[in-house]
Amino acid sequence: MIDANGPGGGDETGGGGDTDFAADRRALVDGLRETQDVSERTLSAIGAVPRHEFVPEPHRAHAYADRPLPIGHDQTISAPHMVAVMADLVDVERGDRVLEVGTGCGYHAAVLTDLVGPGDVYSAEYVPELAADARERLDRLGFDVTVRSGDGREAFRDEAPFDAASLTCAPTGGVPEPIVEQVRPGGRIVAPVGGGGLLGRGSQRLVRLTVREDGVDREDHGGVRFVPMR
Ligand code: SAH
Repeated sequence: MIDANGPGGGDETGGGGDTDFAADRRALVDGLRETQDVSERTLSAIGAVPRHEFVPEPHRAHAYADRPLPIGHDQTISAPHMVAVMADLVDVERGDRVLEVGTGCGYHAAVLTDLVGPGDVYSAEYVPELAADARERLDRLGFDVTVRSGDGREAFRDEAPFDAASLTCAPTGGVPEPIVEQVRPGGRIVAPVGGGGLLGRGSQRLVRLTVREDGVDREDHGGVRFVPMR
């Protein structure tokens, strides 16, 4: 566990560090407001989550730059604008129950929790060490998220149906049927899909599915680049 603040959690009271981060975070939100077509509600969620607490110490100085960062185990935390766009597209309300596939460091789960409220985000992470670290971090920062280690297709079947699902890893053949089955009719799924080229990341698209009784409606939201779903 890498934590510059040491055991017991954030140095919220002392030092200039967190104050600087607060200014950086405000600047990030202002930048996103200018460049992205996302709601004030979504921007407020980005403004509420201390991204610097989620990135490994060597990258902390860049926590509020709008770019992806490595989080270990060959995985990355998405750039803030991508988290904002996805959180906006999934269009959740307070009290909605959300399935996330790919907890990573837990940042995106924290943003979703700010939008739906405590206890309503269920996040699955394939890599056990990332799941354990994210669970500890979310808990320490006061984000009530249920994290399980395992394959997101099945990890929370006992908690279905969900109002929405958000995938932060890219399935090659479209959103897997088990995930569609776990979202109620009228619910939304936001996911990067495609890839599977030489590097496994070629030609992915961000899609939003709306689940219907007899299938799904699909919208395309442009080209993206995510780690592959395992
Ligand atoms: N939302 C994350 C981004 C993590 S990157 C964040 O804010 O940090 C995507 C993650 O998906 C990786 O950690 C990867 O290990 C995980 N992943 C890949 N395939 C998966 C699967 N089948 N089930 C659950 N997690 C998976």
